[in-house]
Amino acid sequence: MQRRTFLRNSALSAGMLALSSKNLMAAIMQQPAYKMKTLRGDIGIFTERGGTIGYYPSKEGYYVIDSEFPDQAKHLIEALQSQKEMPIRMLINTHHHGDHTGGNIAFKGLAQNVVGHVNCLANYKRVAEQSKTEDKQLFQDMTFGDSWKHKAGKEHIRTYYFGAAHTNGDAIIHFENANVAHMGDLLFNQLAPYIDRSAGANIKSWIQVLEKTQKTFSKDTLFIFGHAGNPDNVTGNLDDIAAFKNYLEKLLAFTAEQIKAGKTKAEIVKIPEIPGISWKGSGAERSFSAAYDELTSM
Ligand SMILES: [Zn+2]
Ligand SMILES: [Zn+2]
Repeated sequence: MQRRTFLRNSALSAGMLALSSKNLMAAIMQQPAYKMKTLRGDIGIFTERGGTIGYYPSKEGYYVIDSEFPDQAKHLIEALQSQKEMPIRMLINTHHHGDHTGGNIAFKGLAQNVVGHVNCLANYKRVAEQSKTEDKQLFQDMTFGDSWKHKAGKEHIRTYYFGAAHTNGDAIIHFENANVAHMGDLLFNQLAPYIDRSAGANIKSWIQVLEKTQKTFSKDTLFIFGHAGNPDNVTGNLDDIAAFKNYLEKLLAFTAEQIKAGKTKAEIVKIPEIPGISWKGSGAERSFSAAYDELTSM
């Protein structure tokens, strides 16, 4: 038995040595390495892999915003239950993408309600049907339109839908008392965004959505972002909303200039970055591609 263990350990060590540093990094990355951080008013964020999760422990149970992927959702649920054993009152999705709803299934039989914008549910169902993964999803059983209000213990949750943007079904989830607003993928912080035209995304309308966001919230509002160039920067303030709005404005204007100058789509997407935007490591290709398609489809 001992010898067996020794042989196995030796094999493991040899295997470890044979791992290239890249594979070793990949192996390390597979370890559960989530982060949880309380922001204010008991509202916290959970990050591991996928779009940032928000959570709030109310008297009646937990409120969770977005679910990353199944393993990540399990880690979150375990961590929340170890902090305080309580039911999951509600799971709210900011939009339908798999890195925000993939973990919904982990809430099956746990969350009393799953909530999202009507277009979020329509997109979610369509994509699941196309990929024949309906059995791996937990769809919303409650939907809202432009706005929805809900009392959650000492918090008031209010949702805002301002129109097409990253998809045509993105909502902002606002905890009014703490003044914390989850933006989902309406904001990619210092990172080239994903613009999902197959789900009704529209850059011009996205700029207006961000303008409405600027008018609706205050200097004191603490925003949660779906993604960030630096994973530590998934929260921020109105300055970050202005910076991202500036990115989209520059993207549209610059792409329009290139089209006017007679450049083809293949030429435009090869341009390494939008002049005036110096986000480190941000691949502008997908932004240019979406902007070109939007501008030439009108
Ligand atoms: Zn996302
Ligand atoms: Zn998304």
